[in-house]
Amino acid sequence: MFMNKKSLKQVDKQIAKEITNETNRQQNNIELIASENYVSLAVLEAQGSVLTNKYAEGYPHKRYYGGCEFVDNIESLAISRLCKIFKCKYANVQPHSGSSANLAVYKALVNPGDTVLGMSLDAGGHLSHGFRSSFSGKEYHAVFYGTDKNGYLDYNEIRKIAKQTKPKMIIAGASAYSRTINFKKFREIADEVGAYLFVDMAHIAGLIAVGLHPSPFPYADVVSSTTHKTLRGPRGGIILTNREDIIKKINSSVFPGSQGGPLMHIIAAKAVCFYEALQPEFKIYQKQILKNIQTMVKEFKRLGYQIVSGGSDNHLFTLIITPIGLNGLEAETLLHQHGITLNKNAVPHDPLPLFKASGLRIGSAAMTTRGFKEKEFKLTAQYIDYIFKNRNNKNKLKMIDKKIQTLLKKFPLPY
Ligand SMILES: *Cc1c(COP(=O)(O)O)cnc(C)c1O
Repeated sequence: MFMNKKSLKQVDKQIAKEITNETNRQQNNIELIASENYVSLAVLEAQGSVLTNKYAEGYPHKRYYGGCEFVDNIESLAISRLCKIFKCKYANVQPHSGSSANLAVYKALVNPGDTVLGMSLDAGGHLSHGFRSSFSGKEYHAVFYGTDKNGYLDYNEIRKIAKQTKPKMIIAGASAYSRTINFKKFREIADEVGAYLFVDMAHIAGLIAVGLHPSPFPYADVVSSTTHKTLRGPRGGIILTNREDIIKKINSSVFPGSQGGPLMHIIAAKAVCFYEALQPEFKIYQKQILKNIQTMVKEFKRLGYQIVSGGSDNHLFTLIITPIGLNGLEAETLLHQHGITLNKNAVPHDPLPLFKASGLRIGSAAMTTRGFKEKEFKLTAQYIDYIFKNRNNKNKLKMIDKKIQTLLKKFPLPY
């Protein structure tokens, strides 16, 4: 027998050590990356289970492998829970990531060379919405809309671009847009030019799940999402629709179109995430995310900072950083040295290249999971400002490091 009962530590010291290091890093940093979150122990347990051993190509009760009776139950539960959350008819829970989900949507609905209209990266769009080095920009004719000078979507402008470019598909959704997206307006525009409306709700899925952001249904033909951002599940993707003709195309474009065997341990963890999202506490959690981001917006404004669009309707905002004499990369690096993790982000019409950028994207989902409330988010804004203003004063920085670590110790992670 080639199996033994040795632990990871006994088998592979190096990897075990790096995982311990990462656990400590997660414990010892204020996590403000808007696309990250902390999963529950239940999600983690499902994800680290024996389901990783199982091949299950195909879909529940139509598999290409034997022994699928239990994974069939798991995937069926994941699908029914997901449809219940978003009040839609059909779902595919197999995409390995948000980008894989989007690839499958493209493959299902448009042909190489077709025109697809999406939000530009610098305005807050995602790589898979037509960026030149992504499949979506290489194999399809990508055209873009952005935001107006105030950082808002301008639906008249989007309509104008749609009429000029006649896309076969329009994508609504973003990675760094802090305002409510009007899916009804997108539907009207899509209808005027005869395009599919594809909503990518990766960032705001948790808010939509509890009705704190308008739903893309009934307007979207197809909806994709990640499961690991505000939805707080394992790293992965999903696709939803109300149309029978579209789910058929999606199912075959996920498997066998672009993926092989589904990751059943991840699908089980998604099912647990969906169960959690259906509980009343999840709405309380999402409400707290919004309260916390409002607290930060208010405090940064009080401290004299500018914010793209002047505020936020969701779980994130982009702080304009250049007026204090740093670019996004420098600010990100500086904060990282003092226990605050976030990422640089372009601002609309950013004069700096993407790898420097003029802004910082700040999200409240992860620290809200950890128990931060208004008081702690206000403190966090003050700490960030303090670090920027005293960036050349070693003693003051040491003092703030201590304060940050003391604060974090009060909010331990359960891992
Ligand atoms: C995060 C994100 C994705 C991609 O997710 P991955 O799992 O990293 O591939 C897709 N679309 C949007 C809008 C996102 O924010």
